Amino acid sequence: MSATLPASPEVKITETECFIGGEWVPAVSGKTFATINPATEQEIAQIAEGDQADVDAAAKAAHKAFESGPWSTMDARDRGKLMFALAQRMEDEIDDLARLETLDNGKPLGDSRNVDLPLAIDCLRYYAGYADKIHGSTIPIRGNHLCYTRREPVGVAGQIIPWNFPILMVAWKWGPALASGCTVVMKPAEQTPLTCLRLAQLAKEVGIPDGVINVVPGYGPTAGSALVKHPLVDKIAFTGEHRTAQIITRESADTLKRLTFELGGKSPNVIFADADMDAAVEGAYVGLFLNQGQCCCAGSRVFVEASRHDEFVEKLQKRTAQRKVGNPFADDTDQGPQVDQAQFDKILSYIEKGKQEGADCVAGGERVGDKGYFVAPTIFDNVRDDMAIATDEIFGPVLSVLTFDDKEDMIRRANNTFYGLAAAVWTRDISVAHDFAARVRAGTIWVNCYDVFDAAAPFGGFKMSGYGRELGEEGLKAYTENKTVTIAL
Ligand code: ADP
Repeated sequence: MSATLPASPEVKITETECFIGGEWVPAVSGKTFATINPATEQEIAQIAEGDQADVDAAAKAAHKAFESGPWSTMDARDRGKLMFALAQRMEDEIDDLARLETLDNGKPLGDSRNVDLPLAIDCLRYYAGYADKIHGSTIPIRGNHLCYTRREPVGVAGQIIPWNFPILMVAWKWGPALASGCTVVMKPAEQTPLTCLRLAQLAKEVGIPDGVINVVPGYGPTAGSALVKHPLVDKIAFTGEHRTAQIITRESADTLKRLTFELGGKSPNVIFADADMDAAVEGAYVGLFLNQGQCCCAGSRVFVEASRHDEFVEKLQKRTAQRKVGNPFADDTDQGPQVDQAQFDKILSYIEKGKQEGADCVAGGERVGDKGYFVAPTIFDNVRDDMAIATDEIFGPVLSVLTFDDKEDMIRRANNTFYGLAAAVWTRDISVAHDFAARVRAGTIWVNCYDVFDAAAPFGGFKMSGYGRELGEEGLKAYTENKTVTIAL
């Protein structure tokens, strides 16, 4: 296992400014910030650093496109057609987009090309198909009245996304917004603005009207906060940390924005003694190490029934030892660097805490190489529920193994977290699986699988993992208002 410096990939960077009202413009302040290649720690490009003034211009452009532009009068079916066209352009440029994503984020090129991009394209197509199928209902009310409802777009959607799945998060956010007839101001994460900016250009080229999609790159407390407070923005869809969501809730109070949040997790992945152990080991491995461990639904607390604990740990160690960490552009790389210095430092400090608190580090436990933010896939065994590595979201390749003897106690422990995003159970007993699915308080339950995502299946959290759902019909409804119309006959 070694990290070699990535060969410089052939990636052309063409979009680096703010995209407002269909135009590429520098930030009003003239400021820029660097986006960094996490594999080399070198600057990739300088990006316009948007703030309040740029967000204001973008919100006005989005408001105009919503109120009086072609978006508001376009037939829903034609809106869908433009979305299909965008999805097709992404498919045509899939290799270039995948390279851009890997350069900016550090995830292995195979993941960008074969997982993230296909999921993003599928999501846009799924919602494109919805554009002309959004409608209300007629309601029988008392008296001689006709009563019906209309599902109308919520208006201007402010969308703030994280860096872990940059292009997929764009699709999750633009898909339901555009299908329902909203216009958008998006703030990509400061670590990974490149693919979002590129998609804005593709949207322009396929004919999505000016002002429908606006992108303002910049930092959270400036550009993000300005979006949250802007009076012309009707809704904020945010994916990120729960602490940021708390700030957004407070800052959006004056304008009473509609809010949907998809936040963090400390998801339990529970393996019963009757499970297919090889499948469960693979599920634990993928469920935690996917995307360098930078998944909000990562299965970071693996509970194994005590009678099969030793076998599980031995198999997981073997599987993890094969994991190749290094150049994200190399064909055989399984794991690239963490996204930035801050995440890298945070993960290493949790690894130290785990060691100090007395958990057994049975794999990894250190950085890889001396350049780039590479962290060895790490397994802690004999973890106690109260250790920091079992309670806090680490957002890195650090897996904690805990054991259980009793099902009731395990369910209590699985629920003993303020998060509730996802959970998984591995068992051949259908009653145990259903009981677990009913009693564990999380937005997604996987049975004998992990990380199975589909644009049609709602995703989101209980408790501090968020509110509202993305994907599926629920995700669409979150971008609509319900209007009741009553007519005296
Ligand atoms: P992470 O730790 O994963 O970066 P954050 O919640 O800090 O999670 O960031 C997710 C997104 O939220 C990013 O686009 C970031 O710039 C943005 N953000 C951070 N702070 C704020 C804020 N105060 N208001 C609005 N957006 C913010």
